[in-house]
Parts: sequence; structure tokens; C-alpha cells
Amino acid sequence: MDSKTTVTIWNEFRHEKQDENVRSVYPDGIHEALAAPLREAGFQVRTATLDEPTHGLTDEVLAKTEVLVWWGHMAHGEVSDEVVQKVVEHVWGGMGLVVLHSAHFSKVFKRLMGTSCDLKWREAGEKERLYVINPSHPIVRGIGEMIELDHEEMYGEHFDIPTPDELLMISSFAGGEVFRSACTFRRGAGKIFYFQPGHETYPTYYHKDIQRVIQNAIEWARPLDAVRPTYGHRPLFAKDVQ
Ligand code: ZN
Repeated sequence: MDSKTTVTIWNEFRHEKQDENVRSVYPDGIHEALAAPLREAGFQVRTATLDEPTHGLTDEVLAKTEVLVWWGHMAHGEVSDEVVQKVVEHVWGGMGLVVLHSAHFSKVFKRLMGTSCDLKWREAGEKERLYVINPSHPIVRGIGEMIELDHEEMYGEHFDIPTPDELLMISSFAGGEVFRSACTFRRGAGKIFYFQPGHETYPTYYHKDIQRVIQNAIEWARPLDAVRPTYGHRPLFAKDVQ
């Protein structure tokens, strides 16, 4: 693992401030829970939250970010369209994007997918099993055949996304529903990973296998050797004419 990978973890950071239950699970915010194991693993991690100026995503921060991790839920509408546009353009330019749980409804993900990104859901703290269906993929390296979470929010099909470029895991829930819970997409020069677990009232982001998947996804999404195409008018040079 290259210790120089620069990661920005963006978190809405509202539930943790407003809800005692959530605060008891993530006292320093979901962003810090996500950041801790990544810092330990040698990633260069910064965090950014909704209520900071420019939501913490200045041009300078975005320019330095190789992979952006996004968690949001109750305040998607408060994310400024200008910041959304900049994030989308950075993804097109090669920045990796890891979209977690309820960020399926973030403006950034919806813009990049071009669909409603809607789904079925039920908050009943039921058991979830995430089955690996693409065992050779680097994002599932080291986690075995299946991850079991004792308590998660059910997300069920149909999930209104474009057909993923790669489908890595399918989840089943105690209630019987299934869900495409780990999907990759490519947009422009950028790589995108959507990962379903992570409801704010459950300690999902402390689970070692969940942390492993997120870490693997960051390594996968990093613009390691992305070609940055140039677009626009191209003059015909004499040397090109045979
Ligand atoms: Zn949730």
C-alpha cells in the first residue's frame, strides 16, 4: 500500500450533533470513525463536513484529493450545486469517489449516475449478509466469502442505478429482500465505488471487514495511472499528414 494516497472523507455531520443515539455510536462523527483505521494504515486523510465554508471542499482540497469518500443523509439538499459541479468535474478528471450508504441519494452520486438512485428501505436493525460474488476483485481482497452484520438498515431492490460496471456483493436481509450492495462505475477518468452498509445508528464502520472493503476501495479508486485526456479542437500538424 502506498502511504501517500490522499483521501478526503466528507461527512454531513448532522445526525451526530442532533441525535444522542447516533452520538453514542459515533461520538466524534462518522468521518472520524472512517478516518481512524485509514490513518493507521498510512493514508493521508483529511476530513470535511457540510457546515464548514464551501463544505470543506475548496478548490485546493479537491485538487489534492486522490479519493473522496462521501457520507450524507438528512441534508443532501443543502450541498451547494457549485460544490457538486466541482466534485463531479474532479471525478471526470480522475479523482476516485467512494459513496457510502445513504449517500446513494447525494446530489453528487445522482449527477454521476443520471438516474433517481431510489431504493426500498426499512430501519429494523435486522441481520444483513453481504455475499461476495466477484472474488477476484481487489476491493474484496481479504474478507472471505461473506460479511455478516448483526444490525443494519435494509436497503432493497429495485435500486434505480445504471447497470454497474462491476457487481462485487449482493446482500440479503432477515426480511428476505436482496440488494446490490457493492458496485463499481467509471465516469470519465474517475472510478466510483458504491457500498451500502453504514446506517448512522449501528456500529458498522467499526467492523474490521467493512473497514477493509473501504480501504481496498480507496486503493482501487486512486487515479494511479489514469490517462487525463485533453478535449477540444485539434489542429492538423504537418507531421500527421502522410
Ligand atoms: Zn440509513
